[in-house]
Amino acid sequence: MLRGLLRPLRLDALLLGVFLLAATAVGPFRALLDGQSLTVEEWTPKSTLVVEEHLVPRAKYPVIDVHSHHRPYDDARLKQLLSEMDALNLRVLVNLSGGSGDRLKSVVEAFPKRHPKRFVVFANVDFSDVGSKDFPEKAAARLEEDIRNGAVGLKFFKNFGMDVNYPDGRRMPVDDPAMDKVFEVCAKHGIPVLIHVADPAPFWQPMDQYNEKWLELKLRPGRKKTAPPSFEELIAERNRLVARHPKVNFILAHMGWHGGNLKLLGKLFDENPNVHVDIAAVLYELGRVPFSGREFFIKYSDRILFGKDSWAPDEFPYYWRVFETRDEYFDYYRRYHAHWQLYGLDLPDDVLKKVYYKNALRLIRGIDPSGFPE
Ligand SMILES: [Zn+2]
Repeated sequence: MLRGLLRPLRLDALLLGVFLLAATAVGPFRALLDGQSLTVEEWTPKSTLVVEEHLVPRAKYPVIDVHSHHRPYDDARLKQLLSEMDALNLRVLVNLSGGSGDRLKSVVEAFPKRHPKRFVVFANVDFSDVGSKDFPEKAAARLEEDIRNGAVGLKFFKNFGMDVNYPDGRRMPVDDPAMDKVFEVCAKHGIPVLIHVADPAPFWQPMDQYNEKWLELKLRPGRKKTAPPSFEELIAERNRLVARHPKVNFILAHMGWHGGNLKLLGKLFDENPNVHVDIAAVLYELGRVPFSGREFFIKYSDRILFGKDSWAPDEFPYYWRVFETRDEYFDYYRRYHAHWQLYGLDLPDDVLKKVYYKNALRLIRGIDPSGFPE
């Protein structure tokens, strides 16, 4: 009788034992049991600060996102994308993944041809015949054709400068004269060039206890740079390129990776009236400088464009909140970008309008300007 009662109890004890054993072996459970064994990757403290919060699910003005990537979608997915855009007050997406030739035609077919007021497409350079004798002419002719087929800008991915090589293995630098004819086509047609050069500078630095991107390098080891070119070399090439083509409007993706050094970026703006930036994926830099960042946005309000890069509708409101509020010390959505909290810049309305849509309308003439507020 007594043994009969104990048997189920012993089973419970056994299960509890197994659970405890498993819990000590699995990170998050182990952390619950023993704070002493937490690792820095596991440590995600919740702020005890109590202050006013102003969430901004929808941007105050209609927004043009100049840095977006989309493959052609079926009707249902496209409808879903449009409703996600509407909820955020995103009026226009600039799809930078247009490609060239037939691929470009199909992307134009899939987006602006179906919704001309909501999408435009940038072309990309086809580097497959780099090094052939007539590459400069051919690349320029392909861009002319892409523009005829509906491209309203040209986008360079970061492989340009890092992974585009001549057949003999030599790296094609960002300011290679072989590309001059392509930029001359951009000047002739008045189309902007959105260009991503290099990566965050800490990716080139030793991955030690001082590296601000240590967590990102720990979680994404492939991002560590181990071979030339250096960050400085790439930036110097980019700066020579924008100076050599003053008639081309350049939009440097990700604030040209100078979001953490606004003085340096201001100097680049002062020296090159044709240089602009998007703020894609560098919100964490702006959200830690509420004072100098606000001044910078006001001073250079004609040079800064909204961009987001990866499509994640729930991440956009962090951008609206940084730009539109004066909220303090709030969470960011990607801890490996930044181990710090963000602050609002409380941008004036005229600056917001420029960053959200006016600058994009001025630079990207292929966007239908009707319906945007004055
Ligand atoms: Zn991108």
